[in-house]
Amino acid sequence: MFHSLQQINYGSKSIEYKLSFAARKTLGIKVFPDGLVKVIAPNDTNLIDINKKVKSKANWILKQQAFFYSYKPNTPERKYVSGETHLYLGRQYKLQIIEDTINEIKISKGAMMMRTKKTNPEYLAKKLNEWYKEKAIFHFEELLNRSLEKFNKYKLEKPVLEIRLMQKRWGSCTKSGKITLNKELIKAPKGSIEYVVIHELCHLIHHNHNKDFYDLQNSLYPNWDKWKEKLEHALS
Ligand SMILES: [Zn+2]
Repeated sequence: MFHSLQQINYGSKSIEYKLSFAARKTLGIKVFPDGLVKVIAPNDTNLIDINKKVKSKANWILKQQAFFYSYKPNTPERKYVSGETHLYLGRQYKLQIIEDTINEIKISKGAMMMRTKKTNPEYLAKKLNEWYKEKAIFHFEELLNRSLEKFNKYKLEKPVLEIRLMQKRWGSCTKSGKITLNKELIKAPKGSIEYVVIHELCHLIHHNHNKDFYDLQNSLYPNWDKWKEKLEHALS
């Protein structure tokens, strides 16, 4: 398929997108987790009309990109200055940097208050990541214990839980019973984290995504697709 790289301007921002054509009736726009925008247009559409259409969706595209970027650590967008928003358990918090003699991070009234001995971005990034990790250990462990109760009749042994940064997945599991969760999940809503935990636990019973797997996942976590959607696409 023929691709070309196009660009539109929207306010002070510009959006780059990969354009291709296909035999279809409507224009499709997709934003990928790495920020890439792909547009597939019906075969005979001209570029002016395509750009018009993309422009009309610009706000949505930028929102999608911002959402994906907010999950990613150490993106250039992160400056670690007061007023910048950071995600925690699915909510946006305004960072508030306070120079102090102690290091402490607290969530209070929509703010993420960060008392800190140093204020350079590298130091703040490191401290905030440590805090996220700590919170991840606490909440993931709790959600794992709670989710395991749903599996009582399967007599599952409690899996070993590993938490680390994963580039392309939210979770994985091994046949020997180890579950790995992406540390970045701590930024997602609890329902979405629970979905990933239950998804991986279901894999301890059915390894593949076959019908039995989905039947089990449906019965144990009926709203799973809503939470999956939130995790991957929604800005809420
Ligand atoms: Zn799976």
